[in-house]
Amino acid sequence: MGESKIIRKCVSCNLKKSRADFIKITINKKTKEYKVNPTSDFVGRSVYVCKDISCINALFKKEKIYKILKIKPDETLKEKIKTVLEN
Ligand SMILES: [Zn+2]
Repeated sequence: MGESKIIRKCVSCNLKKSRADFIKITINKKTKEYKVNPTSDFVGRSVYVCKDISCINALFKKEKIYKILKIKPDETLKEKIKTVLEN
């Protein structure tokens, strides 16, 4: 079974789509290190957001994403997500 068949939900708009339609953010609970669209060897809790700038912007309103990931506000996170979106 390919990864594209896996259904995920956007943490911003709650829409359900296949994994391939999302940007994945994974956080290692212990180290608080996170990665955007990590390789499969990076293990942790993952959230998914649509490849859509409005969904991404909504995630950063009231620092929602930091509360979800349980990390301190980190301005580089949005840049990392946007870089993935643009590529
Ligand atoms: Zn969305």
